[in-house]
Amino acid sequence: MRGINWTARPHSMELLKKIKQMRSKRKYTIILSPAHGVEVPGKRNCDGSYAEWEWSRQQLRLLATDLERLGFTVTTDNDWADNEIGLTNRVKNMNLVKSPALVFAMHSNATTMDGCGGKAVGSVIYTCKGVTKSDAMATIAYASIAKNLPDRRLLRDRADGDDDFEANFTVLMSKHPSFLLEVGFHDNEEELKLLRDPVWCGYLRKAIVEAIVKIDREV
Ligand SMILES: [Zn+2]
Repeated sequence: MRGINWTARPHSMELLKKIKQMRSKRKYTIILSPAHGVEVPGKRNCDGSYAEWEWSRQQLRLLATDLERLGFTVTTDNDWADNEIGLTNRVKNMNLVKSPALVFAMHSNATTMDGCGGKAVGSVIYTCKGVTKSDAMATIAYASIAKNLPDRRLLRDRADGDDDFEANFTVLMSKHPSFLLEVGFHDNEEELKLLRDPVWCGYLRKAIVEAIVKIDREV
């Protein structure tokens, strides 16, 4: 098993003081939900050199640092475990977090089982069924991705009057508003280039951070 080398980004004293001030203004605790686990079959590109669980954890770690710097309290549904702790356990952990909190899950997508030769392109956001705060959050996240990654194809589902797709994913079923972003298709070579591009992923994280700040203010 390949381990992940996390880059430590320590906060200076001055920054810690600023973070404390900002924290008092933040409404939501952010619960990050990293994708799957190292032992989950599939969820990889064709030659296995890209793994969704690992990419998701790397990006969410960086996102957590950015959000903490803006005063958010950030936690996860799996304590950053490399393995899949079980979806029901994740929901249990989410429900232990005091409201108001929101759940953000980040995955990469695929249309093939073996990760080879997929043709699909684009990003999609899922929320739980019914019209909830999650829908308002997803709408803000879509707009932020459109602004920060203007070339990005956004897959929308207008059937119920908003853009997000609705699904009975277990991780969307805690007591908190939740949305899940499928960033792009790791079984499509062109999409995989983006997932592997640190600059592109930086813009993606910027989009998510800006969305969460707006959500915290408006939803
Ligand atoms: Zn996934």
